[in-house]
Amino acid sequence: MLVICAPSGTGKSTLISKLRQEFPDFGFSVSYTTRDPREGEEDGVHYNFVSRDRFVAMRSKGEFCEWAEVHGNFYGTATTPVRKMLDAGQDVLFDIDVQGASQLRKVFPEGVFVFLLPPSREELLSRLSGRGTDSEDSIARRMKNAEGELREAHWFDYWVVNDDLDEAYRELRAVYLAGLTLPALRPGLLESVLDTWEEDRG
Ligand code: ADP
Ligand code: 5GP
Repeated sequence: MLVICAPSGTGKSTLISKLRQEFPDFGFSVSYTTRDPREGEEDGVHYNFVSRDRFVAMRSKGEFCEWAEVHGNFYGTATTPVRKMLDAGQDVLFDIDVQGASQLRKVFPEGVFVFLLPPSREELLSRLSGRGTDSEDSIARRMKNAEGELREAHWFDYWVVNDDLDEAYRELRAVYLAGLTLPALRPGLLESVLDTWEEDRG
C-alpha cells in the first residue's frame, strides 16, 4: 500500500498519474466523494461520485475503512475493493487526506505513507489558481487547510518536495521501489532461503 498525502494543489494527481503510467499494474483505490465532478473527471475512474445520503448510508453500514470531511465534502475509501486488490497481490495506491491516512495507518500499519510538500505557500497558490478548476472560495479554503495538513506531515514515513516535477517523481519512484523490499511485504522469503540450508543438511 502506497498512501500519498499532500495539500490540494501540490501535484499529487500529477505524480500519481506518472507512477501509474510507469507501473500500470498498480491498483488504485477509487474513493467515494460527495463533491461535484470537475471537468474531465469520470465517475468510477477518478472518484465514485455519490450523494450525501448515499455516503452517509454506506458509512452507517461500515463500508469505509476510513472517511473524512475535507474542504466541505465527504470522502471515503471502501474496504472491500481494497481488500480484493491486496489479496490478489496487487500494490495499491491511495490518494487521501491526512485525517484519512491516519485512520488507514491503524487498519493497515504495513502501508508506506508518503507526504508530498509544496515548495512554498506562494507556489501552492499559483498552482491552485493555475489549475483553473476551483472557485476563489474553494482556493481560499484549500490554502487555509494546507497549513494544518503540513503540520501533520511529521508522522509520515517519507517526505517528497514537489518543486521540480522530474526530481519529485524520481524520489517518489524510489520510495515505492524501496517499499517493495520491506520484510513485512515479503512473507516467506527468508524461510524459503533458509530452507535451502535445511535441504543441504537433510
Ligand atoms: P493535487 O492533485 O495535489 O491537487 P495537481 O496534480 O492537480 O494537484 O496539480 C496542481 C497543478 O499544479 C496542476 O495544474 C499541475 O499541472 C501543476 N503542477 C504539478 N506539479 C508541478 C510542478 N512540480 N511544478 C509546477 N507545476 C506543477
Ligand atoms: P479533491 O477534491 O481535490 O479531489 O481532493 C480533496 C482532498 O480529499 C485531497 O486531499 C484528497 O487526497 C482527499 N481525498 C480523496 N479521496 C479521499 C478518501 O477516500 N478519503 C480521504 N480521507 N480523503 C480523500
